[in-house]
Amino acid sequence: MKTEYFVRTLRNRCPRCNEGAVLRTLFHRHDKCSNCDLEFSREDGFFIGGIPISYGLICGLWIVPLLVAWLLEWVPTDWMIGLSFSGAIGLPLLTYRYSQCLWLGLYFTFAEHEMPENNNQE
Ligand SMILES: [Zn+2]
Repeated sequence: MKTEYFVRTLRNRCPRCNEGAVLRTLFHRHDKCSNCDLEFSREDGFFIGGIPISYGLICGLWIVPLLVAWLLEWVPTDWMIGLSFSGAIGLPLLTYRYSQCLWLGLYFTFAEHEMPENNNQE
């Protein structure tokens, strides 16, 4: 398990060479690395794995803190409902591509044999 692949994608860098960007913008992903030509999509539907990561990010960084603030009565109920709905609509749009980037890093962390240079050595 090479956690450096995941750390590289946390910084929006190619998991293989740590040079090329995975995301062009917050809403667009490159198909392959501009530096080492690593194809980011491994197969059809590969990036569906980004959906649970997006869900986890939103729950951990928005829903749970919002619920805690509401339970502690720091946020009134009508604000809680409004913030929940706006987060439910807006945050998946903002986190979807970055979640795909993180999924790419997680994939290579746990399947490092799929990395081309590791494939050639075996
Ligand atoms: Zn690269």
